[in-house]
Amino acid sequence: MKDYDVVVVGLGVMGSSTIFHLARSGASVLGIESFGPTHQFGSSHGETRILRRAYWEGEKYLPLLNRAHELWTELQATSNEKLIVPTGGIFMGHPSTGIVKGSRNTAEAGAIAYEVLDTAQIRRRFPAFRVPDDMEAIYEPGAYIIMANKVRLQMIDLAIQSGAETRFGRTVQKIEKCGESILLTMTNNDEKFRARSVVITTGPWMAHDLLPELSNHLSSNRVPIYWFDSLDKRRKEFTSDNFPAFLYDHPDGHLIYGIPAGVSSERGVKIGFHNRQHVPCKPDGLKQSVSTQHIGEISRYIKQLLPGLNPNPIASSSCFYTMSTDENFLIGASEKYSNVFFASACSGHGFKFGSAIGESLALLAQGKKPPTDLSVFAVSRFSF
Ligand SMILES: Cc1cc2nc3c(=O)[nH]c(=O)nc-3n(C[C@H](O)[C@H](O)[C@H](O)COP(=O)(O)OP(=O)(O)OC[C@H]3O[C@@H](n4cnc5c(N)ncnc54)[C@H](O)[C@@H]3O)c2cc1C
Repeated sequence: MKDYDVVVVGLGVMGSSTIFHLARSGASVLGIESFGPTHQFGSSHGETRILRRAYWEGEKYLPLLNRAHELWTELQATSNEKLIVPTGGIFMGHPSTGIVKGSRNTAEAGAIAYEVLDTAQIRRRFPAFRVPDDMEAIYEPGAYIIMANKVRLQMIDLAIQSGAETRFGRTVQKIEKCGESILLTMTNNDEKFRARSVVITTGPWMAHDLLPELSNHLSSNRVPIYWFDSLDKRRKEFTSDNFPAFLYDHPDGHLIYGIPAGVSSERGVKIGFHNRQHVPCKPDGLKQSVSTQHIGEISRYIKQLLPGLNPNPIASSSCFYTMSTDENFLIGASEKYSNVFFASACSGHGFKFGSAIGESLALLAQGKKPPTDLSVFAVSRFSF
């Protein structure tokens, strides 16, 4: 049986970042992942994710978000490949909605550059959007796209170069106390590891398998994502020069997000509902197929909002949202084992924080203090 300072279970964006920071700090670290370095069964797959800092979800995210932005920028400096692609971001809705008010509040609080656009200005500046008359938008010129697969692979590579070990295609079945350490047993009981601390970043699997203590607070949902092609004569309206990453709070309350064409090798504009078409689903049950009913529904919204797109998607797939009951992250130490740390930072908006959450988990696992206050993400908030 081999001993490590820290074993990290689950190498989605949170785990990849955690092994990167641990290995850089000189710790002996093992990262274990059920599937390969990239796969389609969790939450981190695909080529792109949006990073925006005028965060409508609340100012409490700003310290972690600012740190994440610094770390993504540093990671970019380690690679000749484009890991982040500037696109700007536009967050549209009725002026009374959380998207507009919250984005503006956080931008003000964080001194983040932004502009306010009314409907006429939105249509003039970004002609692809056909928004109703009484809308408003917060435009954040500094928002960008993170190349999701590439950043994960870069962090794993750098971790290995700094001495991290990895096991892909292996699943941790059980953790238990072993003196002051934690013993990890793999499925089929065929291998065991011991670590001073363990970090669990298993996304939708977390509460089902290794940390059932979180099961009252987390649920896993399958959510679809679509790609749409533009009509030939309107193609230029959908590339990042004319079409930023966007959030749109439809007057019926459905929140739609999208990423411009041409940012990655994926064809078309990537679009999904953030708060709709969620199907409760056990983590081992991810089917990639999307129902014709869901496709029909998104097509109706595309016809209204983006008439320059062909409303029939050219591709679709599914991904997991691990939802916490209040849609905020859960980060901290296990109640059962004080040297087991976890982060379930999803609810559909966690990727952008991955660089900073990995850094914080790496520090916690080494008994050190993270650079930003994580108490707002503690599970104890549910006890009050
Ligand atoms: C369609 C979609 C769009 C999104 N868009 C954005 C966006 O634009 N911006 C943004 O910030 N966020 C976005 N998110 C959210 C973001 O992608 C997630 O918050 C993030 O990927 C969660 O990563 P994770 O590492 O926690 O989980 P995961 O990526 O699910 O990783 C968990 C890993 O653990 C492994 N594992 C599980 N159990 C075990 C075990 N017992 N042993 C070993 N390995 C195990 C799994 O195989 C998996 O690889 C989006 C999510 C989806 C689904």
